[in-house]
Amino acid sequence: MQKTQLWRRLILTSMVVLAAWLGLRHQLVGGGPKGAAPLDSFCPFGAVETAATLAVSGTFIEKTNWSNLILFGGLVLSAFLAGSFFCGWLCPLGALQDFFAWASKKIFGRQLELGRNLDHIFSYGRYLMLVIIVVATYYANELVFESYDPYKAFFHFKFEDYIPVLVIGLFIAGSMAISRFWCRYLCPLGGLVGLFNKLGSLRPGRKAETCISCHRCDRVCPTAVKITEREKITDSSCVSCLKCVDACPVPETLTIKSKGLFLVLGLLAFFLPPLITQVTGIWQSTPVAAEIEQINDPAQIKGWMTLEDVARAFGLDKNQLARELGLSEAETGEHLKEVMAEKGKDMDYLRAYIAEKLKEK
Ligand code: SF4
Ligand code: SF4
Repeated sequence: MQKTQLWRRLILTSMVVLAAWLGLRHQLVGGGPKGAAPLDSFCPFGAVETAATLAVSGTFIEKTNWSNLILFGGLVLSAFLAGSFFCGWLCPLGALQDFFAWASKKIFGRQLELGRNLDHIFSYGRYLMLVIIVVATYYANELVFESYDPYKAFFHFKFEDYIPVLVIGLFIAGSMAISRFWCRYLCPLGGLVGLFNKLGSLRPGRKAETCISCHRCDRVCPTAVKITEREKITDSSCVSCLKCVDACPVPETLTIKSKGLFLVLGLLAFFLPPLITQVTGIWQSTPVAAEIEQINDPAQIKGWMTLEDVARAFGLDKNQLARELGLSEAETGEHLKEVMAEKGKDMDYLRAYIAEKLKEK
């Protein structure tokens, strides 16, 4: 195996471990201002989901934070310099798809490939997903996609109902059947990042004069880009894995300007913004306690708040609320999301209940 691909596997595996650690830490430590940040605040796509709400009302959608914007900034920077570097080298879901593709080839010997026209039509699924998620998130004022997001299903380590299990099952089946099916047909972030492949000089290029048309590049491409029909690979479905470059048997025929520069720029661009903001104290991934003082609408009540917080913020009698909700004294100081779940109720029930109490006031 080429050194480049070894590096890629090593980095991707590290990203899977990092995502699993972040998800597990949140489950073990809990959320809120003093807890561990939710997995959602470590996803660049969270910035896209919260952008409209942030622009209109100046507030983040619950579970998103400055960290999402910073990671998205790093992603855009890396995309400007190295195209869809994130998809091929950093995304934990990309790593999982590569692993299931490998397992599928071991078990079944091959993967399926949709016809060219179907592949092209389905690739717009990414943009359809993008529009639906952005619009629905804005109007619902919550992360509507989180229950169906494979990133969350795999790394959140909480199975409250059958949906994450179903998502994981479908994701594994899809990845085993069709190489990088999620990236190619469904991933809203991948669709967005792929557009940057049209820019930048660090793209694989093919010299038609020396190409012997062996089609090795076409065969190894995980997203079925027709490399032998291109002189520069700018397709939005390319995940910048460089497998084609590594597979070409003719020197100086399918190349990228500098693999080292590509890797260093891609990594630095993505990781420097979170590192610098961590050091300077700008990074924010957990909610701040001051948010409690700012709430003036029951819709703003978050799962990490306590009944004590809510009673204080709205000037309501904590003991009366606790009695009516069937909570013990100790439970008034615990996170509402868990407390309400134990009572078989969700946060919307609580928000509606508080709204009623405010009307009675
Ligand atoms: S075109 Fe090359 S770099 Fe892009 S996804 Fe295919 S194999 Fe990877
Ligand atoms: S692997 Fe290289 S020589 Fe073979 S078809 Fe692709 S670009 Fe041409």
